[in-house]
Amino acid sequence: MIIDNFELPNLGAEEYIFDSHAHYDDTSFDNDRDDLLCAINKYGVCGIINNGSSFELCKKGLQIAHKYSFVYLAVGVHPEFAESFDDNMLFEIENLLSDEKTVAVGEIGLDYHYDDGADKDTQKSVFIRQIELAKKHDLPIIVHDRDAHADTLDILKEYKPKGVVHCYSGSVEIMREIVKLGMYVGMTGVITFKNARKAVECIAELPLERLLIETDCPYLAPVPFRGKRCNSAMISLTAEKIAEIKGVTRAEILKAARENTNRLFALNL
Ligand SMILES: [Zn+2]
Repeated sequence: MIIDNFELPNLGAEEYIFDSHAHYDDTSFDNDRDDLLCAINKYGVCGIINNGSSFELCKKGLQIAHKYSFVYLAVGVHPEFAESFDDNMLFEIENLLSDEKTVAVGEIGLDYHYDDGADKDTQKSVFIRQIELAKKHDLPIIVHDRDAHADTLDILKEYKPKGVVHCYSGSVEIMREIVKLGMYVGMTGVITFKNARKAVECIAELPLERLLIETDCPYLAPVPFRGKRCNSAMISLTAEKIAEIKGVTRAEILKAARENTNRLFALNL
């Protein structure tokens, strides 16, 4: 069994897939991670940025990135784990930044979705300390913003990091502000969901040179795989939907997103 029995049509070089946001450290890949990653290039996947969430998973991600030439790494502490963050963890994260496969600090940000999450002040302070770390090392950040659009934008405006707001779920108005700050906007398989009205509006207006495409796998598989485990090859379907909205070809979308990802993370994949 390879890549969840998922088959892509034949892809030309113009349609290589660069997944700018994935979590291959997730336990749902523990049984077949190597089978999957050994085969995934055959489906056109030329690059993957594996994103940190907890510090433990950052270290697991590092092992994966060291095993696969096309897997790069973002290290950082997700707001879900903000309460575990302290000076020592900041120091350990800074150590991981010097690894040759680390290209960003992420994913970091604010998540006000869950009532039992860390309080807002803790989340903001953990977010800001990691932005400052990224700036100190001249690295981009990968931003997680769930139900915290106004506070996230305020912090981005104040600190002006380079980076991407991943899995963008805000309004067109806030997206304009993000673009004005010189940042990129990441789109996932959510764009293919029936209720994706807001994301469709954003895509229609987002300049092509600011688009990143991502899976956020194992989550957010595009239709018709919604609810199943996602993997980077499925980006083909997300790109197809974006191409339809923008009235261009899938190849143009994948090429632009790949070039943007390479530019932001200083890579050449
Ligand atoms: Zn993520």
